[in-house]
Amino acid sequence: MEDPVDDAEQLSVALLEIEDAVVWDAVASLDRAVVIEQQALRLGDEMLAARARLCQANMWMRSGDVATAARQISKIHQWAIDHDARRLQARTHLVWANIHRHLGDAAQCLEHSVLAVELLDDQATPHMQIWHRTKLADALGLNNSLEAARQRYAQAEGLAYELDQPDLLIMLLNNWAYCEYSAGAHEGAEEVASRLQALAARHGHQLEPNALDTIGSIQIENGHFAEAERTLQIGIARYGEGRYEDADALPEYLLTLAQAQRGLGATDRAQQSLDRSRALCLERDLGDVLVRVQQEQAELHAARGEFAEAFAAHKVFFASFKRLQSQQREAQARTRQAMFEADEALREAERFREQARRDPLTGLRNRRFVDEELPRLLDASESLTVAIVDLDHFKRINDQLSHDVGDQVLVQVAKVLETELTAVAPDGFVARLGGEEFLMVLPGATLGVATVRLDGIRRAVGGYEWNGITRGLPVTVSVGAADLYSAPAPTQADLLSIADRNLYAAKRAGRDRVISAIPEARHLYRDGASAA
Ligand code: GH3
Ligand code: MG
Ligand code: MG
Repeated sequence: MEDPVDDAEQLSVALLEIEDAVVWDAVASLDRAVVIEQQALRLGDEMLAARARLCQANMWMRSGDVATAARQISKIHQWAIDHDARRLQARTHLVWANIHRHLGDAAQCLEHSVLAVELLDDQATPHMQIWHRTKLADALGLNNSLEAARQRYAQAEGLAYELDQPDLLIMLLNNWAYCEYSAGAHEGAEEVASRLQALAARHGHQLEPNALDTIGSIQIENGHFAEAERTLQIGIARYGEGRYEDADALPEYLLTLAQAQRGLGATDRAQQSLDRSRALCLERDLGDVLVRVQQEQAELHAARGEFAEAFAAHKVFFASFKRLQSQQREAQARTRQAMFEADEALREAERFREQARRDPLTGLRNRRFVDEELPRLLDASESLTVAIVDLDHFKRINDQLSHDVGDQVLVQVAKVLETELTAVAPDGFVARLGGEEFLMVLPGATLGVATVRLDGIRRAVGGYEWNGITRGLPVTVSVGAADLYSAPAPTQADLLSIADRNLYAAKRAGRDRVISAIPEARHLYRDGASAA
């Protein structure tokens, strides 16, 4: 592993190398992303850690463990949403799209691919601008929307020229050619494939084996078997020279080569290629390529006029095809279950989080919410007023009526406070601190303005039609307020203790009033009269 990195900038660059790579060695990239995550956590950089986790999820998927990838991705996505990290969201949708493609869910793949493009903004790297559009085109192709796919490929192609990204351009032409080929658009496929070859020649760029495999397949489809054999032989000779390739790459190329050779009538060469492919499939446990090898074996027997063998081979093919299908369906079901459970756990956690921050009697926020939210608001606000609201002589209501009526009064006071506060300070909140004590927070309000508003709220409580609940007993509140200028460098504790002192002063002065400053009592309100 590399030297330990202790600089966020360097870590970010190292991650970008994985994020914006065109081809990965999934295992090596996974290891690297795990190390980067640990380093990011040591630096306390959550954003880098989340990016590193997404790289890991992507690599899990690439190495075939789609269920593990799926389990992780919901959490990363939620983190990205909570932290308004658009670029990470866009990348997450792209990985999600790939997972759905693996699961054979073309519609979901498209939905996520669309979001992966919609979330692009000027923070997105050139790689993302081009590649996310290419993947959207792939997804459109997968959904049989060839025309729409072509438009997106063309758009991505334009961008790749504009942003001077020849490697991506080659990749996207490869995908485009493959999309045309899969749609059975032979002419389109040939046209894009020749553009791909011309581009590579112009840049003196050796086409990768996977691009040559696409081109070879298109040549076979168009009956150009000799050309196809040459193309594929070049690809196979280059295999292993350059970049990392997936385990199933070489057996795939050999299979395509066998098809070209069968087309040429060179059945012996075709058999040799097919045998090499089969041996690799068995050695590497590649069930899905093996099934197609068996299918090609049946075709090859038929081409030689060996019809009994062709029939036997076809039976072998068909049995393994069925088995593979059911294995794939099971794996897909497992992954869907993992995704569902991960989502469900997240929703559960969110519900729990929300519940843990509410008071069960009144439904208002509780002290826990205050302790989390108020420091953040204090940092973010230029002006902010807090007010502690306490019911007057609440014991009387409990004693003369009942505890139950007392509860009903608390619930109703909570409603009045919430309604009134929302009207004057929509960014603020009301919380129940405990017992018959509430906190109101009014961001953006200076103490003078806030005091007038609080006094309006005080009157709304007293003016509520309480008869139905308290049979004639009045309900009033006393309020003590403080704002950011009430102390030199106010912390939450400072503000609340000043507000509490003011509340105490309001009680002593006779209750049912708002006090926002002592000792001068500049803002003492009772029945609209300011006692200065
Ligand atoms: P003051 O005007 O000085 O605030 O008088 P008070 O009677 O309101 O204040 P005190 O602190 O003496 O009494 C508060 C009462 O609130 C005592 C307690 O039984 C009651 N209380 C606290 N929590 C609840 C609750 O959840 N439900 C009900 N019904 N009563 C509660
Ligand atoms: Mg009280
Ligand atoms: Mg009290």
